[in-house]
Amino acid sequence: MRRKLAAGNWKMNGGNAELDGLRTLSQIHSGAAIDILICPPFTLIAAAAECAGSIAIGGQNCHSDASGAHTGDISAQMLADVGASAVILGHSERRADHSETSEDVRAKAHAAHAAGLITIICVGESLDQREAQNTLDIIGGQLSTSVPDTATGENTVIAYEPCWAIGTGLTPTTDQIGDVHDFIRTRLEKRLGTGAGRSIRLLYGGSVKAANAAEIFAVSNVDGALVGGASLKSDDFSPIISALEAAANVS
Ligand code: PEP
Repeated sequence: MRRKLAAGNWKMNGGNAELDGLRTLSQIHSGAAIDILICPPFTLIAAAAECAGSIAIGGQNCHSDASGAHTGDISAQMLADVGASAVILGHSERRADHSETSEDVRAKAHAAHAAGLITIICVGESLDQREAQNTLDIIGGQLSTSVPDTATGENTVIAYEPCWAIGTGLTPTTDQIGDVHDFIRTRLEKRLGTGAGRSIRLLYGGSVKAANAAEIFAVSNVDGALVGGASLKSDDFSPIISALEAAANVS
């Protein structure tokens, strides 16, 4: 049985004042039978890890080298050192803004696993690619190159995030989400074997909010969500977490 995961990506948002919301969230969901992860900006990781209780803290990126002459970059070991237990890799904003390739993502994933971090590897198609009916080809290619052969259910989570759904208020239909998640599951099982392939958690991400969370969490092979905008305020994220807890109770 895969344990559900509600993950929040704060992106380049938040300062010390926002840690109050994290404290509130950790009090409300202290006994949750699901995993909760918040990925704040790097500047807040150490303080967030101090006050997050049972909520795990993660980074939003790391370098593929353990250390060295890479001004402004952060290594996976540094994330672990300040209290992170996970890192988001290959988010579409990093693929677009920083020209990150799937090869880069795989190299970062190796570094993150070596540092003991769980990697949340993001894949997703653009609107043009979906309209050209290339979604599964794109996802298949990103998966095969971004995910290392050493991926297991313990060290890897995959987030399916259609680029056109991120921050737009648009979401795929539940059938479209189910088709992609089933495809990812089949691909992982074929490549990694049924042990690892079945135990890797698959998150959906893209305009998840309280109003659509329950129907998305009812889709097969959806083990949780990666949430951007609606993770910034505890009032918005808390009902999403509750919807995932309810889904965990029925599955
Ligand atoms: C994201 O950026 O990972 C994301 C899913 O954003 P949003 O929930 O705001 O669409």
